[in-house]
Amino acid sequence: MILFIGTSPVVRLFVMNVLSKIGRYLTMDMKQVSPEIQDLGVANGWKRGKWPVIALDCKHETTDTKIGKTRTEVRCDICGYRYEYDSS
Ligand SMILES: [Zn+2]
Repeated sequence: MILFIGTSPVVRLFVMNVLSKIGRYLTMDMKQVSPEIQDLGVANGWKRGKWPVIALDCKHETTDTKIGKTRTEVRCDICGYRYEYDSS
């Protein structure tokens, strides 16, 4: 940034604008690589009509992984949530 000291405010504003756009793009990109997964807990405790909105609104194909004898983890990386249920 030392390079820009002494340049006109317009140029500095422009540079700041470009830099913030690049920064936003980079953070967006980072999120796609490692999304922050929201842990919703165990679905067995959820009553009918009390499901978390994020899971209700999800129209994606979820990834179901067996994590135990009777436990299955359901996960959507696009929405960024996970929960599990116990089928015992
Ligand atoms: Zn989803």
